[in-house]
Amino acid sequence: MLEQLVIIGSGCAGLTAAIYAARANLAPLVIEGNQPLGQLSTTSEIENFPGFPEGINGYELMERLRQQAERFGTHFLSAHVDRAELREKCLYCGDQKIQYRATIIATGAEPRMLNIRGGRECFGGKGVSVCATCDGAFFKNREVVVIGGGDSACEEANFLTHFCSKVTIIHRRDQFRASKIMAERVLNSPKIEVLWNTVPLKICGDQKVTHVRVRSGDREQDLQCSGVFLAIGHIPNTTIFKDQLSLDANGYFTSIGATEIPGVFTAGDCCDAHYRQAITAAGMGAAAAILAERFLLSS
Ligand code: NAP
Repeated sequence: MLEQLVIIGSGCAGLTAAIYAARANLAPLVIEGNQPLGQLSTTSEIENFPGFPEGINGYELMERLRQQAERFGTHFLSAHVDRAELREKCLYCGDQKIQYRATIIATGAEPRMLNIRGGRECFGGKGVSVCATCDGAFFKNREVVVIGGGDSACEEANFLTHFCSKVTIIHRRDQFRASKIMAERVLNSPKIEVLWNTVPLKICGDQKVTHVRVRSGDREQDLQCSGVFLAIGHIPNTTIFKDQLSLDANGYFTSIGATEIPGVFTAGDCCDAHYRQAITAAGMGAAAAILAERFLLSS
């Protein structure tokens, strides 16, 4: 069957594109990807999405977007696109071939992994995590380490204070990249200690994480902890498109919205290294849907 519009990804950008496209009677197909409802669904409280003065839980927000998209006629496929022939207007989810007239790529980004010994490949599920909302409760009354200095690291650290006896942030510089409000919350928390100018060398343990070896200047030390949360940024999910659409040095699409291939549009974190906010992803999703609708009407 030929789809009018296929949206790849079900995060904030993809679902907002779906709401707009469905309201334009395009009956879009959303291919949900490996992380249905996107990164935001694993976030705790979102305080800066307009319209929610009390804040809203990330999963709840994404569920609401999905319901809104569904209400106007979006259909969903629980699958992952592993190959794309964009010039032929063809996507593949394993053996399943999907043809379309227009597509919006809203594949988002995924957490960056730390390239040190004892990373997630050794201790995934045994103490190393990229998601405090998902795994924080496993560390009740334990000491944990958060690596990173951006909003994610501060948010994760604050969230972990609800469970953990102590949270130590390891940051490689002497100031946070995070926004002021997030940084201040961390600095004012009696449960959080920040080790500035400190880099992790190795995550250690036998069956489970027991400590992290870190270096601050010339000094090395072991930090005892049961968990290590990585919050060191993200990598855009663009690899399968790399020979077809242009990417910048960090792997982000260079085009936002219309691309060099007619009928192919991009939106959200896969093309945005700068803002990376729920609301900006949603805005790009809406814009991409409007562009796709115009393309479909004129072609
Ligand atoms: P980010 O802003 O890119 O910060 C990544 C942090 O990890 C930086 O402090 C960086 O250090 C550090 N880092 C990177 N590679 C490292 C390595 N190999 N070893 C040690 N440290 C490393 O990423 P993010 O915190 O995930 O935030 C991404 C975007 O989402 C941002 O735009 C942020 O504002 C947004 N966000 C917003 C909220 C919110 O408003 N509620 C919550 C989460 C995220 P340097 O500082 O030295 O580069």
